[in-house]
This record gives sequence, C-alpha cells and structure tokens, in this order.
Amino acid sequence: MNLLYIILIIIGIMGLVLFFPWKGTGSFKYTSPTIRFHEADHVLSRRLLKPGSSNYDAYYSIHPEFQKADDRSRQAPGLLDRLAYHYDPGTFAAARSNFEIIGFMGQLTHATTSHSITTVPLPDQSTTDTDAPRRIHPEKTSRFITGWLKNTGAHSVGITTLRDYHLYSHKGRGPRSGEPIVKTDEYAVAITTEMDHQMMQSAPEGSSVMESSEQYLRSGVLALKLAAWIKELGYNATAHIDGDYEVICPLVATDAGLGVIGRMGLLMTPDLGPRVRISVVTTNMPLIASEQQPDPTVLHFCHHCEKCVQTCPAGAIPAGPRKEIAGVERWQVNAESCYHYWTVSGTDCGRCISVCPYSHPDTLFHRFIRFGIKNNLVFRYLAIKLDDVFYGRKPRIRPLPAWTDIMNDQ
Ligand code: SF4
Ligand code: SF4
Repeated sequence: MNLLYIILIIIGIMGLVLFFPWKGTGSFKYTSPTIRFHEADHVLSRRLLKPGSSNYDAYYSIHPEFQKADDRSRQAPGLLDRLAYHYDPGTFAAARSNFEIIGFMGQLTHATTSHSITTVPLPDQSTTDTDAPRRIHPEKTSRFITGWLKNTGAHSVGITTLRDYHLYSHKGRGPRSGEPIVKTDEYAVAITTEMDHQMMQSAPEGSSVMESSEQYLRSGVLALKLAAWIKELGYNATAHIDGDYEVICPLVATDAGLGVIGRMGLLMTPDLGPRVRISVVTTNMPLIASEQQPDPTVLHFCHHCEKCVQTCPAGAIPAGPRKEIAGVERWQVNAESCYHYWTVSGTDCGRCISVCPYSHPDTLFHRFIRFGIKNNLVFRYLAIKLDDVFYGRKPRIRPLPAWTDIMNDQ
C-alpha cells in the first residue's frame, strides 16, 4: 500500500512539472563528424577477411590492433549458426531466408532500371529528350516521396543535403572493395522502418535477429523502389541497403531530422527510440531538405540513464560522459566485444534496443511521457527512475512468441 502511495505521489509531481518548459540540456549538443571512415575498418567488413588470404595479411599488417579480437570471433560458431548459444530453428531459418533475399537485392542498388548510374545524364531541364530528367517541383516531389514511402511501410522519412562525412571514404566489402567513394549526388533520403516491439522483447534470442532481418528487408525494398522511381524520372539514384552501403545511415538520418545518435551508437528516433532499421537513397534529383536540429534532451537522458550499459551482455556500451573521439563528443561502443557476442549467441542481439526506455510502444501514455522528457529536466530525471520501477533496471528477457516454435516435441 505504501508503495502505491509513493507511486501516486511521484505521478502527481510528474503531472505538475510536465508542462513547465525547462529543457536544462546545457552543453548537450550533437556535433557532426569531420572525417570520413573507411568501410574496411567496420567490424562487419573485417569478419569477411579469410585467414591465410592476401587480403587478410594486408589488412592486419596495417591494423594489427584488431587481429586478436577478430580471430577470437572467427573461432566462435558465428551468426545464425546451428552451434550458437541461442540457436532456434524457426527464427534462425527465417532470418537466413531474409538475408538471402537481401543478398539478391544488393545486385539492384545501382541498377534498378535500364538507366545505369554511370549513363544517366545530369539534369538539364531545357532538353526535350524523352530520357532527360523530368521538370519536377522539388517541394511537391519531396512531399510525394515522404507520403508514398510512409503509405507503404516506412515509419519515418527525412531528406538532407548529402555531406562528405555521410559517405565512407572507400568501399570495404563486396566486388568494389578498396574503391574510393566519390560524392556525385546532392541529396539523401533516409527511411526508417519499425522493429516489432514484441519480437524485440526476447532479445538476444532468435526473434530479435528474425525481426532485424525483416526490417533490413522491408527498409531495403523501400529504398530500392524509391531509387527505381527516381531513375524513371531521369535522375541518378543509389539505394543503400543492408550489406551494401556507401553511406553511414545513422549520420544521414540524424541530419535528415529523424533523430539523434545516442549512447548505444544507434539512431534514437523521437517515438520509437532505437527500435528502427534505416535505409538511404542518394540522388541528384532536386529535393527540399527536412533538416532540423537534433534533440539534445535525448543526449541528456542517455547521459543519466545507462540502462543499456548495465544490460549489455558483452559489456560493450561505455558508461560515463561522452568523450572526444576524432574531434567529436560521443559515446563509442566497443564493436569487437559486441560482435563477438553475436558470434557466440548466433543473433545480432539487440538487448540494448529492447531495454531502452525510448523503445516503448508509441501509445498515448508513452507519448505523454516522451513529451515530459523533452519538455522538462525534472520530469526527465523522474522518468529514468520510474522506468526502473515499472520495467526494472535490468528488464527480464521475455519468452519467444509462442508462434515461433516449430519443433515437434512428440
Ligand atoms: S538505454 Fe538509456 S542510455 Fe541507453 S540508449 Fe537508451 S536512453 Fe540512452
Ligand atoms: S547488440 Fe547486444 S552486445 Fe551489442 S551493444 Fe547491444 S546489448 Fe551489447
């Protein structure tokens, strides 16, 4: 009974402070990177290096600091492997199927129509050639793109001018590995799709990798069809989808006004937090950017929350304040520890996504809480504490949804 009174008093205080505007974020500002990253340095590119190959020797002679951790992960069962700790036949097979289809889709990223990216001319609106770029209205076209994609499965869509730091400096995997990436487009469209809340509640079990692959697939299809549509109208377009990126999606999505990168290194959207997957289309089609300042209250919340730090099974998420890394204040996840856990568990984990207070379903109640978090400093502190009271400092891992069990137990 006493606990009930305490909770009612806390809710009463929260109600009082909710509407008083006091962000109190001080120095918590998002800053963009100034340098470009080589895709070969990404842990998911390095995992493709085969011991004994010339690529393997060449890479680790330049970067010996990664070799020990990468070799340790090579000795583990691996992602979606039958010997992995969280092996589950139905969900693992579903994820494998989705990734197989995504692999085929990778062949379409640069060739979604008969117009090749290298042969489509730059826009020249005075020409009468039927293959020439159509005379489009940038504002109406941007509205069309946003409306169309949201109507067909996107959770959010944003447009930004393409910056150098959005692009990797070089390709690090696939047949074009080692090629420099040159900025030829002016705009980028970022697309998010929602990862199902219930499927993620069992993370790091099989349902999380199944859902993650599902949303890589869905966001990839949206990017491919947008790229094809843009090419139909006579402009260049490249889709950036799982396994075939020239851009760093969270950086693009942040500048496109879809959220801000939080403690776990993922895009934190205002209404689903990190529970999204992202794809991007870059283009020379003239569009209107939907840029807005990233919300500093998310960074402030992350500074005090640390729930993902305490629940990460690999201890890969840093505690404490942001640090200056390559001229930018940010948190840096230990990618080697995180990926090693994936190779042991067999899934891409997602435990950090499932426990994040911003990942709660986008219900009226949670919208009310999010409004308070954004509006008032005191409410923000209370929300962190109350999330622990209601969901636990280390929320329990939910069982896999019953329908995912395909085993014959007879
Ligand atoms: S769990 Fe907390 S610290 Fe981690 S990303 Fe979410 S809000 Fe930030
Ligand atoms: S995915 Fe899992 S291992 Fe990686 S940072 Fe998140 S909680 Fe940690």
